Amino acid sequence: MDCTKASVLMSAAVDGELSFSEEEHFLSHLSECKECSGEFDDAKKTKMIIKEKIIRFKAPQALIDSIMQLTNFDTRETEETRLYD
Ligand SMILES: [Zn+2]
Repeated sequence: MDCTKASVLMSAAVDGELSFSEEEHFLSHLSECKECSGEFDDAKKTKMIIKEKIIRFKAPQALIDSIMQLTNFDTRETEETRLYD
């Protein structure tokens, strides 16, 4: 596989949509090619960031509440720590 073919498969590879043999060839190219493996890492990071944003956007109220509680707990702890100073 060359870089052109690897770059065509890149987004499908990030999504885990390659067939077994495509993935095998793709990964073996990455192990030999710094450029493509760097590009693949970047693509994976970008995908993760997008995924996180989607999860945050869809966060259920229960999750938001528990995060708020956690934040309150942290604040209380900080105040207690100050009393002992
Ligand atoms: Zn390459």
